[in-house]
Amino acid sequence: MRFAGKANPNKTFSFREALFSSLAPDGGLYHPVEMPDLTNLIASFGSETTFAELAAETCAALLAPEMPAVRARDLARRALTFSPLLRRLNEQILLLELFHGPTCAFKDFGAQFLAAAMEDALGAEEKRIQILVATSGDTGSAVAQAFHGRAHIDVVILYPSGRVSELQEKQLTTLGGNVHALEVAGSFDDCQRLVKEAFRDPTLTEELNLTSANSINIGRLLPQSLYYIYAATRRAELRDALPTLCVPSGNFGNLVAGVYAWRWGLPVRGFIAATNANDVVPAYLRSGRFDPRPSLHTLSNAMDVGNPSNFERLLAVFSGKWEAMASRIEGAQISDERTLATMASVYDTTGVLVDPHTAVGCAAAIDHLKGTGDAQEQVIVLSTAHPAKFSESVMKATGRIPEMPERLARCLKLPKIATPLGVRFPELSRFLLDNFR
Ligand SMILES: *Cc1c(COP(=O)(O)O)cnc(C)c1O
Repeated sequence: MRFAGKANPNKTFSFREALFSSLAPDGGLYHPVEMPDLTNLIASFGSETTFAELAAETCAALLAPEMPAVRARDLARRALTFSPLLRRLNEQILLLELFHGPTCAFKDFGAQFLAAAMEDALGAEEKRIQILVATSGDTGSAVAQAFHGRAHIDVVILYPSGRVSELQEKQLTTLGGNVHALEVAGSFDDCQRLVKEAFRDPTLTEELNLTSANSINIGRLLPQSLYYIYAATRRAELRDALPTLCVPSGNFGNLVAGVYAWRWGLPVRGFIAATNANDVVPAYLRSGRFDPRPSLHTLSNAMDVGNPSNFERLLAVFSGKWEAMASRIEGAQISDERTLATMASVYDTTGVLVDPHTAVGCAAAIDHLKGTGDAQEQVIVLSTAHPAKFSESVMKATGRIPEMPERLARCLKLPKIATPLGVRFPELSRFLLDNFR
């Protein structure tokens, strides 16, 4: 695959180039220039294919000829040591659990692959790079965990003091080694501003090898397509029906990854884009008008995005045509009230606890099935986070406290190690130069 920015589609870049720059030189996101045809490969996968095998073979096909197949397979195997799990909820709805990775959220797939790909690319070089990220909570922990212990790479994470949950803070500050947590006496916006200033600062860019690990990085997006292929090729579990994929969405990277897989030849019936009150994409699918606005705070807070950056990628897949997109993707907007009610009804009818993000997807799936009335249809809802990461909402909705996975419980007991930092840029600059020059 080759990639290009939006403004200049004729200037193309390799996977490796896109990996280390996140944004194209024209300032836009990287788009695949041509979609590979994986129809035959995908047809060779079945219910007996493990996720590890499927990921290895698909990565080899996607990264050829830039990366030799042996190396691409090895990269996939080293990066993705955990598997998604397809679980039937009722006659027509299945959950694709994506929270069996190290931080119990689907972002582990993208972060782990990105980190392994960067480590692989740096392998033969002498230089070290510094990954710089600002986080409001969850993304930072997936990134920190993914880069922890990788050769040639240091990670510096800025988080707003007192504004992340105890679990989130512990996930960022207990790793040690090459992961450095900076506790900023300010807001998430301050953290983001500091990171942006660092990338613009002439001294830092001269003296260090600053790199970002943004959610828009193509190295985080591509591996997310793998679990769509995994889910839709579990033919026995799906009773040989073409599935509809329902995706709880915020910045829309996850949905874009699914739509890419469909364009590579994955047979699916269609997609549902499920959002909370931040419904600019469902509104676009209804009206053809895209009106970004400031985000609203909801229970499914990892989806509180008012101007989703991956919308540009989604639109590009459909050549900018609203009718084409709206015929493949149905939008759904789910309120907080409905989210809580769905968490309760899913628990009451199936005994399964779901987190608020997954619940948004479940509600959208239920509404969709009511609409089509097709008793044979199978909807797969992507389950994006472990319920224990949102135990307060789960408790409020169901009266039950989800069991904490051992790997989360363990980090709660470890001591926090963080460096306090003010909101002024020279402090960050000094920290980076003192530690990494
Ligand atoms: C990030 C996130 C989402 C939204 O994914 P996008 O790719 O931004 O649409 C959904 N659920 C959880 C738990 C998340 O962390």
